[in-house]
Amino acid sequence: MTASPTDAPATQVIEWRRWLHQHPELSFQEHGTAQYVEDLLRSFPNLSVSRPTPTSVLAILKGTAGPGRTVLLRADMDALPIQEDTGLAFASVNPGVMHACGHDGHTAMLLGAARELSAHPEALRGEVRFIFQHAEELFPGGARELVDGGLLDGVDVAVGTHLMSPVPAGVIVLREGPLLAAPDSFDLTIHGHGGHAAFPHTTIDPVVIAAQVILGLQTVISRQRDPVKAGVLSVTTLHGGTAHNVIPGEVALGGSVRIFDPDLRAAMPERMEQVVRGITDAYGATYTFTYHTGYDAVNNDPAVTQVLREVAATALPDVTVHPGEPLMGGEDFSAYMTRVPGSFILIGAGGPDAAPHHHPKFDIDERALDSGTTMYVAAARRLTQPE
Ligand SMILES: [Zn+2]
Ligand SMILES: [Zn+2]
Repeated sequence: MTASPTDAPATQVIEWRRWLHQHPELSFQEHGTAQYVEDLLRSFPNLSVSRPTPTSVLAILKGTAGPGRTVLLRADMDALPIQEDTGLAFASVNPGVMHACGHDGHTAMLLGAARELSAHPEALRGEVRFIFQHAEELFPGGARELVDGGLLDGVDVAVGTHLMSPVPAGVIVLREGPLLAAPDSFDLTIHGHGGHAAFPHTTIDPVVIAAQVILGLQTVISRQRDPVKAGVLSVTTLHGGTAHNVIPGEVALGGSVRIFDPDLRAAMPERMEQVVRGITDAYGATYTFTYHTGYDAVNNDPAVTQVLREVAATALPDVTVHPGEPLMGGEDFSAYMTRVPGSFILIGAGGPDAAPHHHPKFDIDERALDSGTTMYVAAARRLTQPE
């Protein structure tokens, strides 16, 4: 289906993916994974391999075809705190930990690209940095740490990929502009005054107040947001009380806020707190409200994405390229994009019946791996060309 890699390297990528799938590790704890990746990279020629952080791995390849630009290729390596329920022969051997987002595939694809590119430095100008990143799933994320450590110094463009379960294999998504939202979160505790369930008038009932606050927060999105600007606010945790006959002293809740527009995002903490303040005030309660600013939105550079579109047409002639839609999920690949232009490619790896990401039955269609490896290789060769 593609010029490179050949069938044999594609099989190797699948083997690497299966080993990684079987040995998942949580964010910031990817020690075995990083060692596995480092050992493989050291077995390839022409790479300079290092550990920018304890659980991330960097390989640098200098092309010998002449001067050119420096391209960062990124894969993430961390897994999730989920008990796997796929029944796969290579299912996780680590209880309660699972590659349920496809990062095993990302790592294997980038290893495949490193192997192909490092074998042919004469086909490459400039420089390629392969970053096997730790901790995408856990805020503040590994990307920020790597950027702060100087990974992007001298880098001209960054390319990342994500396997996508709802998109079938044989389709990739290249989208100019907004692709993934900024995933913020919040914690709120409503402090009332507890007491006997039979004598509510002697209490300040935080359960009833929490119910009104939850509904009030929904209106921040539905009534205060310009409806053409995408946004979602989900209250996802709610804890309070210990007995049927006791009104608790406080109720804690938390949730997720996902937005693309920077101005709307910046306004959210105060708008939310205004609702919380008004409702708790009305009933004589107090509150503690904390808004956590998460990753920035992923905004694909139009020029880089257009080049990738040309690259895909040549390198993956049998693959359908789709413009996709913005998604409310988040990704810390945005940390690279704050410093250099970049593009994040979604690679179809499932289909309509596939389990969603972060689900115990999540799996990928391994035919997608070849598309990802090929895109990494072709993008690196093209984007390192002098402008
Ligand atoms: Zn994920
Ligand atoms: Zn992911």
